[in-house]
Amino acid sequence: MKPQHYKTVVIGGGIVGAGIFRDLALHGVDTLLIEKKDFSSQTSERSSKMLHGGIRYLENLDFALVFEALHEKNLWLKLTPHLAQEVPFYLPVFKDAKRPLWMIRLGMFLYDFLSSFKNSPYEIKSAEEVLTIIPDLKTTGLFGAGVYYDGIMDDAKITLEVIYDALKERCAHAMTYTAVTTVTKLHERNIIHCKNLLTGVAFSVTCDQVVYALGPFTDRFLNNIPMYHWENVLLPSKGSHLWISYKDLPLKYPIVITTKDDRVIFVIPHGDQILVGTTEVAFNGDFFDVKPSDTEINYLLAELNDYFPKLGLNHDHILSSFAGIRPLVKEAGAGDRGKTSREHKIFQPMSDTYVITGGKYTTFRVMGQEITRDICHKYGKSFNPDYSKQKLRQRSVVVPFEWKLPTTEELIRICETEGPKTFLDLVVRRLSVSSRKTWELKTNGVDFKQYFMKNLEDLKKHLVISEEDIDKFI
Ligand SMILES: Cc1cc2nc3c(=O)[nH]c(=O)nc-3n(C[C@H](O)[C@H](O)[C@H](O)COP(=O)(O)OP(=O)(O)OC[C@H]3O[C@@H](n4cnc5c(N)ncnc54)[C@H](O)[C@@H]3O)c2cc1C
Repeated sequence: MKPQHYKTVVIGGGIVGAGIFRDLALHGVDTLLIEKKDFSSQTSERSSKMLHGGIRYLENLDFALVFEALHEKNLWLKLTPHLAQEVPFYLPVFKDAKRPLWMIRLGMFLYDFLSSFKNSPYEIKSAEEVLTIIPDLKTTGLFGAGVYYDGIMDDAKITLEVIYDALKERCAHAMTYTAVTTVTKLHERNIIHCKNLLTGVAFSVTCDQVVYALGPFTDRFLNNIPMYHWENVLLPSKGSHLWISYKDLPLKYPIVITTKDDRVIFVIPHGDQILVGTTEVAFNGDFFDVKPSDTEINYLLAELNDYFPKLGLNHDHILSSFAGIRPLVKEAGAGDRGKTSREHKIFQPMSDTYVITGGKYTTFRVMGQEITRDICHKYGKSFNPDYSKQKLRQRSVVVPFEWKLPTTEELIRICETEGPKTFLDLVVRRLSVSSRKTWELKTNGVDFKQYFMKNLEDLKKHLVISEEDIDKFI
């Protein structure tokens, strides 16, 4: 059979690929998005879940990045209010802190200034005020806190809704569980060789332009394609997080911990769960199978216990944990992952081939615009940078801030309209449940197995699912 031809193929269904896919679709460019696993199942669901300017990048003098990220943050807070919220972040300051309160005040003023004063304005709170809001915080040497505003979000859901929105356009097509195995060229056409990982069937499609949005997988994939003569560009950096129940770590607002090794850890309430992270370590293992190490978990717990000594947090308090790889782009002379810029980079190994990597979740919309503009011009279309500022047109059935147990009809609607292929796609990304403990917390003790067994026959019509899959979920 003659392979299907597309103008553009985007490889990688994380937030970066999703953003480019949507922008191309909104401009009427016939595009196929190919993702090896489920959409948003890698780095883009393992972030610290902040839409933020990155206040700490001010110290690296990354003003342009912070300016751009703050404006994007405020845009997405408006566009996806059901998936993102602005909240106050408390940055406590203790005696002998490397950054005294006056410096924090200056940084926060600059942060609000760079947002064109669209952020809710920063405040400085006294120690007494802080302790009424965060009573479990350590008191020794507490001077007060700076309070600034950033966004918290459901990272997996935003990526999914960006893709659902693109798929409203007739020129947009997408596949999950499809691994691109290699890419070759014949008579100016790119041949994208694929394998469906659920059926094992190999096939190919062709395209004029190919966009690689592979995040941390970029070097490993492109190294295997001889025609690109690829040289590694990434400094992969692993970051781990813990989820802890609100009842064990009762915190109303996010708090920023300054660690003993002068890093920051965010402790962020998301409803009945608290997200704690992150770490920053080198990692060379399998990027598709990355988990927090014991050392990272102990490090996060130790820093938590230093700030909240009364709570005595330990491994038993962890609901679940996860890790991801930051696709940091190497900079000449920069060995410190924490200080490496979060700017993205675009490479063009051939005139019809774009590779985009690095950057931050928050800036995804603008990161890919250079590529979309270039591709639009190749087809004589004018590029409008504001198309992607339109509201997303399909809302997820289950949304984080109004979580409730879906009915059978809702489960079926998710299967029919949100594209899950496996049981985990449904539970983890469409229902936002990361473990059995999280399920128990969210449902107030509804029996996990009974609930899914009751719906098994209906779900089997749409998903790869068995009783064993339900039992295996921990
Ligand atoms: C610990 C941590 C915390 C972070 N916190 C924040 C934060 O709070 N705020 C923020 O703005 N940013 C944050 N970031 C950065 C942000 O998460 C990433 O920059 C962003 O998610 C990267 O998205 P991506 O689309 O480039 O990569 P990914 O989401 O990894 O997408 C790449 C996709 O390519 C697919 N793929 C790989 N190989 C193939 C193949 N052969 N065929 C088809 N598909 C393939 C993968 O399956 C994957 O889905 C954080 C990152 C980390 C790791």
